[in-house]
Amino acid sequence: MRDFSADHRWLSLNTATLRKQGDLLEIIDACARHGIRAIDPWRDQVAAVGLDRAARAVRDAGLDLTGYCRGGMFVADAAHRTEARDDNRRAVDEAKALGAPCIVLVVGGLPQYSRPGSVLSRDIAGARAQVDDAIAEMMEYAKQANMPLAVEPLHPTYAADRACVNTTKQALDICDRLDPRRTGALGVALDVYHIWWDPELLPQIARAGKDRLLAFHVCDWLVPTKDVLNDRGMMGDGVIDIKSVRAAVEAQGFAGYSEIEIFSEGWWAKPMDEVLRTCIERHRTVV
Ligand code: ZN
Repeated sequence: MRDFSADHRWLSLNTATLRKQGDLLEIIDACARHGIRAIDPWRDQVAAVGLDRAARAVRDAGLDLTGYCRGGMFVADAAHRTEARDDNRRAVDEAKALGAPCIVLVVGGLPQYSRPGSVLSRDIAGARAQVDDAIAEMMEYAKQANMPLAVEPLHPTYAADRACVNTTKQALDICDRLDPRRTGALGVALDVYHIWWDPELLPQIARAGKDRLLAFHVCDWLVPTKDVLNDRGMMGDGVIDIKSVRAAVEAQGFAGYSEIEIFSEGWWAKPMDEVLRTCIERHRTVV
C-alpha cells in the first residue's frame, strides 16, 4: 500500500467539495495554490463556465482528471427515455473534450425521481432492468469515444431517488453481464461513503480486480448523520476505516488517485483554502 503520509501527490479533488465557495475556474486556481494535481469536475460546474473554458483551464493548470461527474439517471418512463439517452451522450462528448479517464455513473432510482416528470412507479426490479439496458446502449456510444463508464454503487438509502444499484456486487454483476471479456469499457467507481458498511466489500473488491477499479472516492460517515446527502464527513471525522478499503483496492493493483468528495453544508460554509488545507492534512494522516 502506498505511503500517503509524506505528500499529497495522489490526492484528487471532486469539485463538488467546493461547489458553494466558487466556480470551477476558482476551484482550479485553488488546486494550483495547494499543489493538488487532479480533479473530478461536475457537469453543472463545467456548464457554468463553458466547456471550452473549462477544458482550457484544466489543460493550462496541467491537471489530471480522475473522472467526470456524472452520467446516468437512466431510469425514466417511455416519454423521457430519449432525453436520458441524449443527455448521457452529451456527457460522453464533454468528458472527451475535458480529457476525463471515465464517466462516473449514478444510475437513477425510480423514474419519477431520476427523470422528473416521469410517471410514478414502485417497480424497483423494473428500474434495475432498465439500468442494464441503458448502460448497454450508452456503452455503444462511449466505446466509439474510447470513454470507459464507471458504475458507482450508492448506499441503499438512495435506492428510490438516486441509484437502484446499491452494492459493489450489484455493480460488478452489471459489469460482468455487459462486458464479460473485461475490455476496459466498463468498471466501477467505489466511494467509501456508499460501501463501507457492506459485509461483502472485501471479497467484491478482490472480484473487481484492477481492470474494473476505475475510481476511488473518499470522505467519512458521521454519526449521527444529519442529512444523508449533504452531511458527509471530512476523512477522520467519522467511522469509516478508509485505509483498510484503500489497502484492499491497492492490493488489486489500483494505483490511481484517492478522490475527495464531500457534500457538506458544514464544509461548504468554510473558506476554500481552509477546506483544502484540511483535505491535504487528512489525506496524509487518515486516507
Ligand atoms: Zn462518489
